[in-house]
Amino acid sequence: IWKDCLSIIKDNIPFISYSTWFLPIKPAEFDGTKLKVYVPSNYFIEWIEEHYNTLLNRTVNQVIGESGKLVYLVLDEKEPLTKETTFTQNIPEPKEVKQTVEIQKEFESGLISKYTFDNFIKGEGNQLARAAAYAIGDNPGQTSFNPLFIYGGVGLGKTHLIHAIGNKILEKFPEKRVIYISSDAFTVEFVEAIQSNTVNDFSNFYKSMDALIIDDIQFLVGKEKTQDLFFHIFNALHQNGKQIVLSSDRSPKELKGLSDRLVSRFLWGLQTDIQPPDLETRIAILKNKSETYGINLSREILEYIAHNITSNIRELEGCLVKLLANASLTNREIDFDLVKRTVKEVSTTKQVNISIELITKVVCEYFDIEENKLREKNRRKEIVLARQIAMYLSKQLTKSSLKTIGLHFGGRDHSTVIHAQTSIEEMILSDLKLKEIINTIKNKIEMTAA
Ligand code: ADP
Ligand code: MG
Repeated sequence: IWKDCLSIIKDNIPFISYSTWFLPIKPAEFDGTKLKVYVPSNYFIEWIEEHYNTLLNRTVNQVIGESGKLVYLVLDEKEPLTKETTFTQNIPEPKEVKQTVEIQKEFESGLISKYTFDNFIKGEGNQLARAAAYAIGDNPGQTSFNPLFIYGGVGLGKTHLIHAIGNKILEKFPEKRVIYISSDAFTVEFVEAIQSNTVNDFSNFYKSMDALIIDDIQFLVGKEKTQDLFFHIFNALHQNGKQIVLSSDRSPKELKGLSDRLVSRFLWGLQTDIQPPDLETRIAILKNKSETYGINLSREILEYIAHNITSNIRELEGCLVKLLANASLTNREIDFDLVKRTVKEVSTTKQVNISIELITKVVCEYFDIEENKLREKNRRKEIVLARQIAMYLSKQLTKSSLKTIGLHFGGRDHSTVIHAQTSIEEMILSDLKLKEIINTIKNKIEMTAA
Protein backbone atom coordinates (compact mmCIF):
# COMPACT_ATOMS: atom_id res chain seq x y z
CA ILE A 1 0.00 0.00 0.00
CA TRP A 2 2.73 2.44 0.94
CA LYS A 3 4.44 1.57 -2.33
CA ASP A 4 1.33 2.65 -4.20
CA CYS A 5 1.33 5.91 -2.28
CA LEU A 6 5.00 6.43 -3.04
CA SER A 7 4.54 6.04 -6.74
CA ILE A 8 1.87 8.72 -6.76
CA ILE A 9 3.96 11.04 -4.61
CA LYS A 10 6.98 10.45 -6.80
CA ASP A 11 5.12 11.67 -9.85
CA ASN A 12 4.04 14.85 -8.14
CA ILE A 13 7.19 16.34 -6.64
CA PRO A 14 10.83 16.80 -7.68
CA PHE A 15 12.90 13.66 -7.27
CA ILE A 16 15.23 15.17 -4.70
CA SER A 17 12.31 16.09 -2.44
CA TYR A 18 10.91 12.66 -2.93
CA SER A 19 14.15 10.95 -2.03
CA THR A 20 14.82 13.21 0.93
CA TRP A 21 11.40 13.11 2.53
CA PHE A 22 9.58 10.03 1.33
CA LEU A 23 12.09 7.31 0.61
CA PRO A 24 13.21 7.18 4.26
CA ILE A 25 9.65 6.46 5.33
CA LYS A 26 8.98 2.76 5.79
CA PRO A 27 5.61 1.07 6.08
CA ALA A 28 4.79 -0.46 9.46
CA GLU A 29 1.30 -1.92 9.26
CA PHE A 30 -2.01 -1.55 7.53
CA ASP A 31 -5.39 -2.59 8.90
CA GLY A 32 -7.59 -1.74 5.95
CA THR A 33 -8.00 1.93 6.75
CA LYS A 34 -5.05 2.99 8.88
CA LEU A 35 -1.64 2.93 7.28
CA LYS A 36 1.13 3.22 9.86
CA VAL A 37 4.53 4.31 8.69
CA TYR A 38 7.88 4.81 10.37
CA VAL A 39 9.58 8.14 9.91
CA PRO A 40 13.15 8.91 11.00
CA SER A 41 12.41 11.89 13.25
CA ASN A 42 9.90 14.42 14.48
CA TYR A 43 11.51 16.92 12.21
CA PHE A 44 10.34 14.83 9.28
CA ILE A 45 6.76 14.89 10.45
CA GLU A 46 6.78 18.63 10.90
CA TRP A 47 8.26 19.18 7.49
CA ILE A 48 5.99 16.77 5.72
CA GLU A 49 2.87 18.14 7.36
CA GLU A 50 3.84 21.65 6.53
CA HIS A 51 4.73 21.04 2.93
CA TYR A 52 3.03 17.95 1.68
CA ASN A 53 -0.21 17.69 3.61
CA THR A 54 -2.47 18.21 0.63
CA LEU A 55 -0.53 15.84 -1.53
CA LEU A 56 -0.58 13.20 1.19
CA ASN A 57 -4.28 13.55 1.82
CA ARG A 58 -5.01 13.25 -1.83
CA THR A 59 -2.74 10.23 -2.16
CA VAL A 60 -4.17 8.42 0.84
CA ASN A 61 -7.71 9.04 -0.37
CA GLN A 62 -6.85 7.72 -3.75
CA VAL A 63 -5.05 4.60 -2.56
CA ILE A 64 -7.01 3.62 0.55
CA GLY A 65 -10.26 5.44 0.05
CA GLU A 66 -12.16 8.20 1.81
CA SER A 67 -11.70 6.65 5.25
CA GLY A 68 -7.94 6.18 4.81
CA LYS A 69 -5.64 7.51 7.49
CA LEU A 70 -1.93 7.89 7.74
CA VAL A 71 -0.20 7.42 11.10
CA TYR A 72 3.38 8.45 11.67
CA LEU A 73 5.55 6.55 14.08
CA VAL A 74 8.88 8.05 14.99
CA LEU A 75 11.74 5.63 14.85
CA ASP A 76 14.42 6.76 17.17
CA GLU A 77 13.64 9.85 19.16
CA LYS A 78 13.39 9.72 22.90
CA GLU A 79 9.85 10.99 23.14
CA PRO A 80 8.06 9.90 20.07
CA LEU A 81 5.30 12.15 19.03
CA THR A 82 2.76 10.14 17.21
CA LYS A 83 0.66 11.99 14.78
CA GLU A 84 -2.37 10.96 12.97
CA THR A 85 -4.57 12.75 10.56
CA THR A 86 -7.62 12.35 12.79
CA PHE A 87 -6.86 10.80 16.16
CA THR A 88 -3.91 9.85 18.34
CA GLN A 89 -2.58 6.37 18.24
CA ASN A 90 -0.75 4.24 20.74
CA ILE A 91 2.98 4.58 20.66
CA PRO A 92 4.83 1.35 19.93
CA GLU A 93 7.79 0.16 21.97
CA PRO A 94 10.86 1.60 20.31
CA LYS A 95 12.71 -1.69 20.84
CA GLU A 96 10.24 -3.61 18.77
CA VAL A 97 10.57 -1.09 16.04
CA LYS A 98 14.29 -1.64 15.76
CA GLN A 99 13.82 -5.34 15.28
CA THR A 100 11.07 -5.21 12.74
CA VAL A 101 12.34 -2.53 10.44
CA GLU A 102 15.17 -3.31 8.16
CA ILE A 103 17.04 -0.12 7.74
CA GLN A 104 17.72 0.90 4.24
CA LYS A 105 18.88 4.41 3.83
CA GLU A 106 18.19 6.30 0.69
CA PHE A 107 21.51 8.14 0.80
CA GLU A 108 25.17 7.26 1.05
CA SER A 109 26.75 8.12 4.38
CA GLY A 110 30.06 8.84 2.69
CA LEU A 111 31.81 7.01 5.51
CA ILE A 112 34.89 4.92 4.82
CA SER A 113 34.49 1.77 6.85
CA LYS A 114 38.19 1.06 7.30
CA TYR A 115 38.64 4.18 9.44
CA THR A 116 37.67 2.94 12.87
CA PHE A 117 38.68 3.45 16.48
CA ASP A 118 40.14 -0.05 16.51
CA ASN A 119 42.90 0.86 14.14
CA PHE A 120 43.44 4.37 15.41
CA ILE A 121 46.54 4.34 17.58
CA LYS A 122 46.37 6.39 20.75
CA GLY A 123 49.20 8.76 21.45
CA GLU A 124 49.88 11.87 23.45
CA GLY A 125 49.23 14.11 20.48
CA ASN A 126 45.75 12.77 19.78
CA GLN A 127 44.60 11.69 23.24
CA LEU A 128 41.99 14.33 23.94
CA ALA A 129 40.66 14.41 20.39
CA ARG A 130 40.31 10.65 20.40
CA ALA A 131 38.60 10.52 23.79
CA ALA A 132 36.08 13.16 22.80
CA ALA A 133 35.46 11.47 19.47
CA TYR A 134 34.92 8.16 21.21
CA ALA A 135 32.43 9.63 23.64
CA ILE A 136 30.47 11.10 20.76
CA GLY A 137 30.40 7.76 19.00
CA ASP A 138 28.64 6.40 22.07
CA ASN A 139 26.27 9.29 22.61
CA PRO A 140 25.89 11.47 19.56
CA GLY A 141 24.35 14.83 20.36
CA GLN A 142 24.23 14.02 24.06
CA THR A 143 27.66 15.17 25.19
CA SER A 144 28.83 18.74 25.66
CA PHE A 145 31.15 18.20 22.71
CA ASN A 146 28.74 19.70 20.23
CA PRO A 147 30.13 20.67 17.89
CA LEU A 148 33.35 18.74 18.16
CA PHE A 149 36.00 20.72 16.34
CA ILE A 150 39.22 18.84 15.62
CA TYR A 151 42.11 20.74 14.12
CA GLY A 152 45.74 20.12 13.27
CA GLY A 153 48.29 19.68 10.51
CA VAL A 154 48.02 17.52 7.45
CA GLY A 155 48.28 13.76 7.77
CA LEU A 156 47.79 13.63 11.53
CA GLY A 157 44.61 11.60 11.61
CA LYS A 158 41.73 14.10 11.58
CA THR A 159 39.91 12.48 8.71
CA HIS A 160 40.46 9.02 10.15
CA LEU A 161 39.09 10.08 13.52
CA ILE A 162 35.94 11.74 12.27
CA HIS A 163 35.12 8.77 10.06
CA ALA A 164 35.59 6.59 13.13
CA ILE A 165 32.95 8.65 14.92
CA GLY A 166 30.45 8.14 12.11
CA ASN A 167 31.17 4.44 11.85
CA LYS A 168 30.77 3.97 15.56
CA ILE A 169 27.46 5.83 15.64
CA LEU A 170 26.09 3.64 12.86
CA GLU A 171 27.37 0.51 14.50
CA LYS A 172 25.61 1.38 17.72
CA PHE A 173 22.54 3.05 16.27
CA PRO A 174 22.03 1.67 12.76
CA GLU A 175 18.85 3.68 12.29
CA LYS A 176 20.55 7.01 12.74
CA ARG A 177 21.15 9.26 9.80
CA VAL A 178 24.85 10.02 9.60
CA ILE A 179 26.62 11.80 6.81
CA TYR A 180 30.27 12.59 6.12
CA ILE A 181 31.22 15.20 3.57
CA SER A 182 34.19 17.46 2.95
CA SER A 183 33.43 21.16 2.95
CA ASP A 184 34.59 21.26 -0.65
CA ALA A 185 32.06 18.69 -1.78
CA PHE A 186 29.45 20.43 0.32
CA THR A 187 30.14 23.66 -1.55
CA VAL A 188 29.91 21.92 -4.91
CA GLU A 189 26.57 20.35 -3.98
CA PHE A 190 25.32 23.71 -2.81
CA VAL A 191 26.22 25.37 -6.09
CA GLU A 192 24.47 22.59 -7.97
CA ALA A 193 21.42 23.05 -5.77
CA ILE A 194 21.35 26.74 -6.62
CA GLN A 195 21.50 25.92 -10.32
CA SER A 196 18.72 23.40 -10.13
CA ASN A 197 16.61 25.48 -7.79
CA THR A 198 16.66 22.91 -5.02
CA VAL A 199 18.43 24.82 -2.25
CA ASN A 200 15.57 24.11 0.13
CA ASP A 201 15.79 20.39 -0.41
CA PHE A 202 19.54 20.51 -0.13
CA SER A 203 19.37 22.35 3.15
CA ASN A 204 16.62 20.13 4.51
CA PHE A 205 18.49 17.02 3.60
CA TYR A 206 21.32 18.08 5.89
CA LYS A 207 18.91 19.28 8.55
CA SER A 208 17.40 15.82 8.62
CA MET A 209 20.64 14.23 9.85
CA ASP A 210 21.33 12.90 13.31
CA ALA A 211 25.03 13.49 12.83
CA LEU A 212 26.68 15.78 10.33
CA ILE A 213 30.42 15.35 9.86
CA ILE A 214 32.22 17.93 7.76
CA ASP A 215 35.90 17.55 6.93
CA ASP A 216 38.34 20.36 6.20
CA ILE A 217 35.98 23.17 7.09
CA GLN A 218 38.75 25.68 6.27
CA PHE A 219 37.69 25.43 2.63
CA LEU A 220 34.58 27.42 3.49
CA VAL A 221 36.81 30.44 3.99
CA GLY A 222 35.75 33.20 1.62
CA LYS A 223 32.62 31.33 0.51
CA GLU A 224 30.01 33.51 2.14
CA LYS A 225 26.87 32.01 0.65
CA THR A 226 27.86 28.50 1.59
CA GLN A 227 28.73 29.75 5.06
CA ASP A 228 25.30 31.34 5.40
CA LEU A 229 23.55 28.16 4.48
CA PHE A 230 25.77 26.08 6.70
CA PHE A 231 25.04 28.48 9.56
CA HIS A 232 21.32 27.74 9.28
CA ILE A 233 21.87 24.02 9.02
CA PHE A 234 24.16 24.17 12.03
CA ASN A 235 21.55 25.98 14.11
CA ALA A 236 18.74 23.64 13.16
CA LEU A 237 20.81 20.59 14.03
CA HIS A 238 22.22 22.00 17.23
CA GLN A 239 18.81 23.08 18.47
CA ASN A 240 17.50 19.61 17.96
CA GLY A 241 20.36 17.99 19.81
CA LYS A 242 21.91 16.53 16.69
CA GLN A 243 25.63 15.96 16.55
CA ILE A 244 27.99 18.13 14.53
CA VAL A 245 31.62 17.18 13.96
CA LEU A 246 34.09 19.40 12.13
CA SER A 247 37.74 19.19 11.20
CA SER A 248 40.07 21.94 10.11
CA ASP A 249 43.74 22.59 9.51
CA ARG A 250 43.66 25.41 12.07
CA SER A 251 41.78 26.47 15.17
CA PRO A 252 38.44 28.31 14.83
CA LYS A 253 40.04 31.59 15.82
CA GLU A 254 42.62 31.25 13.09
CA LEU A 255 39.97 30.74 10.44
CA LYS A 256 40.16 34.22 9.00
CA GLY A 257 37.60 34.71 6.28
CA LEU A 258 34.97 32.71 8.09
CA SER A 259 32.01 34.70 9.40
CA ASP A 260 32.20 35.63 13.08
CA ARG A 261 28.86 34.07 13.83
CA LEU A 262 30.06 30.73 12.52
CA VAL A 263 33.31 30.93 14.44
CA SER A 264 31.38 31.72 17.61
CA ARG A 265 29.21 28.65 17.03
CA PHE A 266 32.31 26.53 16.65
CA LEU A 267 33.38 27.65 20.10
CA TRP A 268 30.20 26.33 21.69
CA GLY A 269 31.40 22.77 21.95
CA LEU A 270 34.88 21.37 22.25
CA GLN A 271 37.85 22.41 20.17
CA THR A 272 40.80 20.12 20.35
CA ASP A 273 43.94 19.80 18.31
CA ILE A 274 45.95 16.85 17.12
CA GLN A 275 49.70 17.21 17.47
CA PRO A 276 52.31 15.33 15.45
CA PRO A 277 52.91 11.89 16.94
CA ASP A 278 55.87 11.29 19.23
CA LEU A 279 58.42 8.58 18.53
CA GLU A 280 56.64 5.84 20.45
CA THR A 281 53.35 6.55 18.72
CA ARG A 282 55.04 6.57 15.34
CA ILE A 283 56.55 3.18 16.08
CA ALA A 284 53.19 1.82 17.23
CA ILE A 285 51.47 3.09 14.10
CA LEU A 286 54.14 1.62 11.83
CA LYS A 287 53.91 -1.70 13.59
CA ASN A 288 50.15 -1.73 13.29
CA LYS A 289 50.17 -0.75 9.61
CA SER A 290 52.86 -3.20 8.65
CA GLU A 291 50.92 -5.97 10.34
CA THR A 292 47.85 -5.12 8.30
CA TYR A 293 50.05 -5.59 5.24
CA GLY A 294 50.96 -8.97 6.65
CA ILE A 295 54.60 -8.24 7.37
CA ASN A 296 56.55 -8.26 10.57
CA LEU A 297 59.27 -5.65 10.81
CA SER A 298 61.94 -5.85 13.47
CA ARG A 299 61.99 -3.32 16.25
CA GLU A 300 65.24 -1.99 14.84
CA ILE A 301 63.68 -1.28 11.47
CA LEU A 302 60.55 0.25 12.96
CA GLU A 303 62.68 2.55 15.07
CA TYR A 304 64.85 3.56 12.16
CA ILE A 305 61.88 4.61 10.04
CA ALA A 306 60.13 6.32 12.93
CA HIS A 307 63.30 8.23 13.76
CA ASN A 308 63.75 9.51 10.27
CA ILE A 309 60.22 10.24 9.22
CA THR A 310 58.77 12.54 11.76
CA SER A 311 56.39 15.06 10.32
CA ASN A 312 53.19 13.14 9.79
CA ILE A 313 51.49 9.80 9.63
CA ARG A 314 50.56 9.82 6.01
CA GLU A 315 54.25 10.03 5.25
CA LEU A 316 55.01 7.12 7.53
CA GLU A 317 52.48 5.10 5.62
CA GLY A 318 53.92 6.29 2.33
CA CYS A 319 57.33 5.09 3.36
CA LEU A 320 55.98 1.71 4.34
CA VAL A 321 54.20 1.28 1.03
CA LYS A 322 57.33 2.28 -0.82
CA LEU A 323 59.32 -0.19 1.19
CA LEU A 324 56.97 -2.99 0.23
CA ALA A 325 57.08 -1.90 -3.39
CA ASN A 326 60.87 -1.82 -3.39
CA ALA A 327 61.03 -5.22 -1.76
CA SER A 328 58.72 -6.84 -4.27
CA LEU A 329 60.32 -5.11 -7.25
CA THR A 330 63.78 -6.29 -6.38
CA ASN A 331 62.47 -9.56 -5.01
CA ARG A 332 64.35 -9.05 -1.78
CA GLU A 333 63.66 -9.58 1.86
CA ILE A 334 63.15 -6.39 3.78
CA ASP A 335 66.55 -5.90 5.34
CA PHE A 336 68.09 -2.91 6.98
CA ASP A 337 69.86 -1.89 3.84
CA LEU A 338 66.65 -1.69 1.85
CA VAL A 339 65.00 0.26 4.64
CA LYS A 340 67.79 2.82 4.67
CA ARG A 341 67.63 3.29 0.94
CA THR A 342 63.86 3.67 0.97
CA VAL A 343 63.88 6.22 3.76
CA LYS A 344 66.50 8.19 1.90
CA GLU A 345 64.51 8.00 -1.31
CA VAL A 346 61.38 9.22 0.40
CA SER A 347 63.13 12.16 2.06
CA THR A 348 64.98 13.29 -1.05
CA THR A 349 62.03 13.19 -3.42
CA LYS A 350 60.35 15.39 -0.89
CA GLN A 351 63.23 17.87 -0.84
CA VAL A 352 63.50 18.05 -4.61
CA ASN A 353 59.89 19.04 -4.95
CA ILE A 354 59.99 21.82 -2.38
CA SER A 355 60.75 25.18 -3.93
CA ILE A 356 60.97 28.64 -2.45
CA GLU A 357 57.94 29.53 -4.58
CA LEU A 358 55.93 26.76 -2.99
CA ILE A 359 56.99 27.83 0.48
CA THR A 360 56.04 31.43 -0.27
CA LYS A 361 52.68 30.33 -1.58
CA VAL A 362 51.80 28.20 1.41
CA VAL A 363 52.98 30.78 3.94
CA CYS A 364 50.96 33.52 2.24
CA GLU A 365 47.88 31.34 2.04
CA TYR A 366 48.17 30.56 5.71
CA PHE A 367 48.41 34.20 6.74
CA ASP A 368 46.03 35.32 4.03
CA ILE A 369 48.37 37.90 2.52
CA GLU A 370 49.47 38.61 -1.03
CA GLU A 371 52.71 37.03 -2.16
CA ASN A 372 54.24 40.23 -3.44
CA LYS A 373 53.99 41.72 0.05
CA LEU A 374 56.85 39.42 1.02
CA ARG A 375 59.01 40.88 -1.73
CA GLU A 376 58.18 44.50 -0.98
CA LYS A 377 59.75 46.66 1.68
CA ASN A 378 56.60 46.37 3.76
CA ARG A 379 57.38 46.55 7.47
CA ARG A 380 53.99 45.70 8.88
CA LYS A 381 54.44 43.34 11.78
CA GLU A 382 52.54 40.38 10.37
CA ILE A 383 54.22 40.75 6.99
CA VAL A 384 57.66 40.81 8.55
CA LEU A 385 56.82 37.68 10.50
CA ALA A 386 55.45 35.87 7.45
CA ARG A 387 58.53 36.86 5.46
CA GLN A 388 60.85 35.61 8.18
CA ILE A 389 58.98 32.32 8.44
CA ALA A 390 59.17 31.88 4.67
CA MET A 391 62.91 32.54 4.71
CA TYR A 392 63.45 30.25 7.65
CA LEU A 393 61.54 27.41 6.00
CA SER A 394 63.30 28.00 2.68
CA LYS A 395 66.61 27.46 4.43
CA GLN A 396 65.29 24.41 6.25
CA LEU A 397 63.46 22.68 3.45
CA THR A 398 65.44 23.47 0.31
CA LYS A 399 69.07 23.29 -0.64
CA SER A 400 69.10 26.92 -1.74
CA SER A 401 71.90 29.20 -0.59
CA LEU A 402 71.29 32.19 1.64
CA LYS A 403 71.96 34.40 -1.35
CA THR A 404 69.34 32.69 -3.53
CA ILE A 405 66.81 32.88 -0.75
CA GLY A 406 67.49 36.59 -0.26
CA LEU A 407 67.01 37.17 -3.98
CA HIS A 408 63.61 35.50 -3.91
CA PHE A 409 62.39 37.84 -1.22
CA GLY A 410 62.83 41.11 -3.02
CA GLY A 411 66.61 41.01 -3.42
CA ARG A 412 67.46 41.13 0.25
CA ASP A 413 71.01 40.16 1.13
CA HIS A 414 72.18 37.04 2.88
CA SER A 415 72.52 38.67 6.29
CA THR A 416 68.80 39.40 6.29
CA VAL A 417 68.14 35.72 5.75
CA ILE A 418 70.46 34.76 8.60
CA HIS A 419 68.71 37.29 10.80
CA ALA A 420 65.32 35.81 9.90
CA GLN A 421 66.57 32.36 10.69
CA THR A 422 67.97 33.24 14.10
CA SER A 423 64.95 35.31 15.12
CA ILE A 424 62.54 32.51 14.29
CA GLU A 425 64.71 29.95 16.06
CA GLU A 426 64.76 32.14 19.13
CA MET A 427 61.06 32.91 19.05
CA ILE A 428 59.91 29.32 18.83
CA LEU A 429 61.87 28.46 21.94
CA SER A 430 59.42 30.44 24.03
CA ASP A 431 56.41 30.87 21.76
CA LEU A 432 54.76 27.47 21.48
CA LYS A 433 51.86 28.85 19.51
CA LEU A 434 54.25 30.09 16.85
CA LYS A 435 56.04 26.79 16.84
CA GLU A 436 52.75 25.07 16.21
CA ILE A 437 51.88 27.46 13.38
CA ILE A 438 55.24 26.86 11.72
CA ASN A 439 54.76 23.13 12.06
CA THR A 440 51.36 23.34 10.43
CA ILE A 441 52.79 25.33 7.54
CA LYS A 442 55.71 22.96 7.19
CA ASN A 443 53.40 19.97 7.08
CA LYS A 444 51.35 21.60 4.43
CA ILE A 445 54.39 22.39 2.30
CA GLU A 446 55.64 18.85 2.60
CA MET A 447 52.27 17.40 1.75
CA THR A 448 51.86 19.63 -1.28
CA ALA A 449 55.34 18.74 -2.49
CA ALA A 450 55.01 15.01 -1.98
P1 ADP B 1 44.41 14.31 8.18
O1 ADP B 1 42.96 14.23 7.84
O2 ADP B 1 44.68 14.89 9.52
O3 ADP B 1 45.20 14.99 7.11
P2 ADP B 1 44.31 11.45 7.88
O4 ADP B 1 43.21 11.13 8.82
O5 ADP B 1 44.00 11.42 6.44
O6 ADP B 1 44.97 12.83 8.26
O7 ADP B 1 45.51 10.45 8.21
C1 ADP B 1 46.51 10.13 7.28
C2 ADP B 1 46.79 8.65 7.34
O8 ADP B 1 47.38 8.34 8.59
C3 ADP B 1 45.54 7.81 7.23
O9 ADP B 1 45.80 6.70 6.43
C4 ADP B 1 45.24 7.38 8.65
O10 ADP B 1 44.65 6.11 8.70
C5 ADP B 1 46.62 7.35 9.27
N1 ADP B 1 46.58 7.71 10.70
C6 ADP B 1 46.55 8.94 11.22
N2 ADP B 1 46.54 8.91 12.56
C7 ADP B 1 46.57 7.61 12.90
C8 ADP B 1 46.58 6.91 14.16
N3 ADP B 1 46.59 7.57 15.31
N4 ADP B 1 46.61 5.57 14.11
C9 ADP B 1 46.64 4.91 12.94
N5 ADP B 1 46.63 5.50 11.74
C10 ADP B 1 46.60 6.84 11.70
MG1 MG C 1 41.98 15.00 6.22
